[in-house]
Amino acid sequence: MVNRPVRQRSVEQIIAALDSAYHATGIEEIGLLSLSSSDHTQIKSLVEAINQKYQDDNVNISLPSLRIETFSLDLMDMLQGKRHGGFTLAPEAGTERMRNAINKPISPTQLLDTVSAIFNRGWQTIKLYFMIGQPGETEEDIEGIIALCLDALKLGRTIIGHKAKLHVSIGTLVPKPHTPFQWVATDSIEHISEKQDRIKRALKKSGIKLMLTDPQATMLEAWLSRGDRRIGAVIFAAWKRGAKFDAWQDQYNYQTWLQAFDDRSIDPNHYAHRIRDIDEVLPWDHIDSGVKKKFLVKEYQNSLDGITRQDCSHQCSACGIQSTYLELIDGGEKISWKCPPMVKNRSPHMVG
Ligand code: SF4
Repeated sequence: MVNRPVRQRSVEQIIAALDSAYHATGIEEIGLLSLSSSDHTQIKSLVEAINQKYQDDNVNISLPSLRIETFSLDLMDMLQGKRHGGFTLAPEAGTERMRNAINKPISPTQLLDTVSAIFNRGWQTIKLYFMIGQPGETEEDIEGIIALCLDALKLGRTIIGHKAKLHVSIGTLVPKPHTPFQWVATDSIEHISEKQDRIKRALKKSGIKLMLTDPQATMLEAWLSRGDRRIGAVIFAAWKRGAKFDAWQDQYNYQTWLQAFDDRSIDPNHYAHRIRDIDEVLPWDHIDSGVKKKFLVKEYQNSLDGITRQDCSHQCSACGIQSTYLELIDGGEKISWKCPPMVKNRSPHMVG
């Protein structure tokens, strides 16, 4: 939301950036990161240009964020047959209902067809990425993750036998400011742990490699990203108590942070686990990302109703940035972009 609208670097700009990074660092692994690399309109030419440029060098190129579709496989195929790194797919949620709620509509058939095409084309490892703690999540969604993982591995075993490997990574949603979920609560440690234990138990003997986010680390993320100005005093108190390098698992001490909140007589649950009213004045409301709050409210409502929206690079859904950044559109001094025209009386696409 805060990075709207979609802007693309040209193939030439990307190649120049790759080249200077490669020569300056000597690093031989290049990852083309994006929310969805295959959405770049010149992605095929880009991959071709990269292949040509590095054909004689020992450089490993990866495209970790591809859409779940066979076009992505064609792109990976073009990357000089490097299949040792594994193929990453991000279904995000275990059921189609939940994927619709987060605006990522993919059917189970589409998912499993892609999994089977990946194994059929010679990859031996697939990495799947999921998120738990989405608003409206039910037991069915957790069971959906388990079922999807087991089905994917089963498919792989049928196609290439025991060489088929599945790595599953499950993060926990921390609803972020300036997004349609900014009013939603972060799941409690107890709930997260229950869900994680359930998944661990179900996948234990499957041979699937499972990576889970530490629920206590999720709390720190929730406090810091959803706090108001009083969080500054808590950070200071935690530092005085020795908190340092908290992103390193072995350095992070959850109790130190709870004590720091206590030092300042602030309840951490106020930030992490409270559902905000839509009309509550939020601590970050004075920061203007360009996207209108009423657009976020509408998107939140759409998510609760299971309605997905079309990608706005095809049809503008009036998020508000055009009017906010009017002077930058089409030939502003430093930046220019073009959003497609707004369609009057447009209605979101209903799924399910
Ligand atoms: S919703 Fe419209 S204005 Fe906003 S980023 Fe998309 S196309 Fe641009």
